Amino acid sequence: MKIQEADAKSLLLAQGLPVPAWEVARTPQEVGAAAERFFAAGAERVVVKAQVLVGGRGKAGGVKLAGNPAEAQEVGSRILGMDIKGITVRKVLVGAAANIVKEYYLGAIVDRVSRRIVLMASAEGGVEIEEVARENPGEIHRVAADPQLGLLAFQARGLGLAIGLRDPLLNQFVGIAQGLYATMRTEDADLVEVNPLAVVAERGADGATVQRLVCLDAKITLDDSGLARHPGLETMRDLDEEDPVDAKARHLGINFIHLEGTIGCMVNGAGLAMTTMDLVKHYGGEPANFLDVGGGARHETVCGAMELILADPNVKAILVNIFGGITRGDEVAAGLIEARSEQVREVPMVVRIVGTNAVEAARLLRAANLETANSLDEAAEKAVALAKGAAR
Ligand code: GDP
Ligand code: MN
Repeated sequence: MKIQEADAKSLLLAQGLPVPAWEVARTPQEVGAAAERFFAAGAERVVVKAQVLVGGRGKAGGVKLAGNPAEAQEVGSRILGMDIKGITVRKVLVGAAANIVKEYYLGAIVDRVSRRIVLMASAEGGVEIEEVARENPGEIHRVAADPQLGLLAFQARGLGLAIGLRDPLLNQFVGIAQGLYATMRTEDADLVEVNPLAVVAERGADGATVQRLVCLDAKITLDDSGLARHPGLETMRDLDEEDPVDAKARHLGINFIHLEGTIGCMVNGAGLAMTTMDLVKHYGGEPANFLDVGGGARHETVCGAMELILADPNVKAILVNIFGGITRGDEVAAGLIEARSEQVREVPMVVRIVGTNAVEAARLLRAANLETANSLDEAAEKAVALAKGAAR
């Protein structure tokens, strides 16, 4: 689950990281009012940033500075409602603009090869980081944290030195890098990225200018499988940007991944779902989705799964493959028959149900005139033929 910059920043703050204050605004008036508060607190300029779950907002014109509250409101009215990579901007972050001296990149990911959390840093931070990664991968330095000991200070220091930082900034960098690691562990995140990690110049109490490192941007992807351990993070799900099909699947407890093919698959069990997809391909078809209705699937789940499949206009045939264990075959059959009767679109379907109550299931399906198959091969072959027939 991706979360917005403002939420990501609050998770970084919780680990004690240096994050400039912000407010979230949903209307130009709110932007103006928030800006007024930052100016009253001494800001020389404010920054207004689109809150959308895609990168490259700066390049798309979704990050702008303003010199007074009226200008901030005007900038807010331009960014709110803007389309960034297909997403409408509904809210913005407002904060005192930082006086940036240099932009670094710092990120933490779960590296599946080393099976460790890896910290990555670059002196070439900012909006061009993708180009740096592509053209000068050597400019990105890495270090893997130890699963038992975490990210040790010397490791973080080595990373900071590699990107050219020297004390006192280097010391600050060590704390920030360890904070990113702590955020990964505490929140079960897949990715925590700060770009730019900026050196900013600020006027101290004595009037002298001091430089320090701050997290100017934050991007966090939470591990969906870890969310159950953090009920509080559920409030950070941005329903504005969640695909309605994904939302429905989540509510039904169905694992659903949309794909590009024409054969909608309804299967119980992830392994069986993958096998089913392999066989569809083997017989010359392309699956339209991965769909695991889960163990013990009942009536509503089956009806819901059917709606998810039919929501995809590319689906030309449906293949149902159920192995009855805890799941009762007759329950699934009854669900299919009901879903069929409510179906808005006529799509051919072939059903294979084996295991618990398969005999009752077969009787129900036959009575309802549904196409059945005795083996998985036969089911896949029939579904591919049906999809091709429908395409003609
Ligand atoms: P992204 O483009 O979606 O990654 O959004 P960022 O928050 O990283 O902003 C993009 C760029 O805008 C940054 O790399 C900075 O150069 C600039 N920027 C962001 N915040 C500020 C700020 O407070 N002051 C100044 N001067 N520039 C900023
Ligand atoms: Mn950024």
